[in-house]
Amino acid sequence: MVASVGLGLALSWTALGRQFDNYAYDFLFRALQPEPWEPSSIILAIDEPTLAKYGGNTGIRSALAVGLERIAPAKPAAVAVDVLLAETSLPEIDDRLEKALAATPNLVLPAYILRNGEWGNPIPRFAQHAYAIGQVHASLDKFDSVSREAPLMKAGGHVRRWSLALEAFHAVVGGQIIESPEELVVGKLHIPSTLKDEYVDGRMLRIRYPPVKMGGIPRISVAELDANPALAARFAGKAVFVGVTAQASGDSRITPYSNTEPVPGIEINASEYETIARGMFLVDVPWLSVAAVCLLLAGMTGTAFAITSGTRPDWIANTAAAALAVGSQFVPAMAFTHSTVWPWLPGTLSTLFAIAGAAFWRQMVVRRALNRAENERSRYQKAMQFVTHEMRTPLTAIQGSSELISRYGSMPEAKRKQMAEMINAESKRLARMIETFLSVERLSAGQMEMKQERFALGDVVDTCVARARAYAERKLIEIDVTELPACDLIGDRELMEYAVYNLLTNAVKYSQEKTRVTVLGEDGRGDYVNLSIQDQGIGMDKKEVRRVFEKFYRTKSAEQSGELGTGIGLSIVEQIVTQHGGTIQVESEPGKGSKFTLVLKRAI
Ligand code: ADP
Repeated sequence: MVASVGLGLALSWTALGRQFDNYAYDFLFRALQPEPWEPSSIILAIDEPTLAKYGGNTGIRSALAVGLERIAPAKPAAVAVDVLLAETSLPEIDDRLEKALAATPNLVLPAYILRNGEWGNPIPRFAQHAYAIGQVHASLDKFDSVSREAPLMKAGGHVRRWSLALEAFHAVVGGQIIESPEELVVGKLHIPSTLKDEYVDGRMLRIRYPPVKMGGIPRISVAELDANPALAARFAGKAVFVGVTAQASGDSRITPYSNTEPVPGIEINASEYETIARGMFLVDVPWLSVAAVCLLLAGMTGTAFAITSGTRPDWIANTAAAALAVGSQFVPAMAFTHSTVWPWLPGTLSTLFAIAGAAFWRQMVVRRALNRAENERSRYQKAMQFVTHEMRTPLTAIQGSSELISRYGSMPEAKRKQMAEMINAESKRLARMIETFLSVERLSAGQMEMKQERFALGDVVDTCVARARAYAERKLIEIDVTELPACDLIGDRELMEYAVYNLLTNAVKYSQEKTRVTVLGEDGRGDYVNLSIQDQGIGMDKKEVRRVFEKFYRTKSAEQSGELGTGIGLSIVEQIVTQHGGTIQVESEPGKGSKFTLVLKRAI
């Protein structure tokens, strides 16, 4: 889950990832537009008709001067000019412009950083009349050149300048611009904008372009003013942004709204102003919160799969996953309605990766369970074959003998007695076999109360060793018993005998001829006593050791040894030992031998 979040975050930091986030931002920007408002800015445009009238590009300054003269009587709140005034032009034109600038209150003039890194400021005769100089740099997205944000500050050489729009606002509200690492304060307004790298695009502001319904910022051109001077009244009390809107000027950008139609630079400045003036700030959510929510989403996905896996049908987990995948899409949208920009990709990817991971995991679990069931079934079948085979031997003996007895009435007494004894012994053996299987099954199913008698461990060992010795003789294997600590156990003596006898016969069964089996007893920790049965036989590797207590499991080497077995004995032994409050441990090495140790609770 953590990996899916890590991957999600890492991918969203790539160039491609950012682009996806930008598209998602633009989508939300268009989908969740704010309600229209009464703009506090207006554009004084130098458009195509104006240029045509004033003599093309060379006439821009004359047009600017005329425009300023015309709106001055209406008393605008501030006038921000985005026409570069860094060189002198014809004296009569500059004289008239200077006069117009001097008559303009709260004038903000533009500056931009030149190739040499210094500021291209307005020439002094113009600059002296300005309330402030503001920079007019745009900030376009590195990849798709969309204008989503504006640098509130820019540094050239050692001089830092606020943006034209911020200075215009500053001119309107007065006071000072106060800086802190997270924000700027102008008058009473707090503008959230973190200082990133100090001398580049230090502080960015996401521009909240006016909704499409508003049709952009109101725009009146100098030519229109010439034709209808009464239009000047529209500039009263407004922040005026003066700039060239003629498309040939090339100063236009793409905004999140206008994927096809670029917006003139001056309108972007005015939109930045509206964003500030209305305090409509879109703030980026901190990455730590993004990571936290991604973890939460991935965690919820994982949990959905974990609780629905196995017992419940898949569609529940799938529906939960789908709900989370869809739900994760709402996070950025919800955040956007609260003026917070939440990157779309990390949450989406984290959830999708978590779903993929969980689905893969589930697939693995299901397959493993299937495999296990399959293995168990085939082992069970083998065991059944063996059990029936084992039972057939005594049954055949019983059947044969009883038939003989009934058929030959005149059988010698000694022979008849021998056969009757054999029938008796074989049927007892059968009964014992069945009894042990049944009682252990019932014990483990909790259907039977275990006997609670007190018996000596030594007695159990002695009985079992005596029985096992007869079995071991055929392979010339010796069974040594070291001195056992004298102690009693509480439980079912018969079951305990079954366990110990089983370990002893296994030790003999899985050893070569003429080897040795040792029974060791020693005090264990606290109230426990350890009883080990050690052989010099075929042994097992680590993987096999881990599985020997599974029902019907047999190691390869055990099968190849030719010794018959069911693979059920040890699972019964383990159950018996656990029922007695003990544990069983195995140490083994292929080819060297095995040591099974019972850790048993002694009776006090
Ligand atoms: P069975 O002996 O009937 O196969 P068990 O449950 O008693 O079944 O033992 C399970 C498996 O554990 C055996 O088949 C064998 O592979 C392995 N095993 C048990 N005891 C030993 C031992 N002393 N040495 C080597 N392998 C053993």
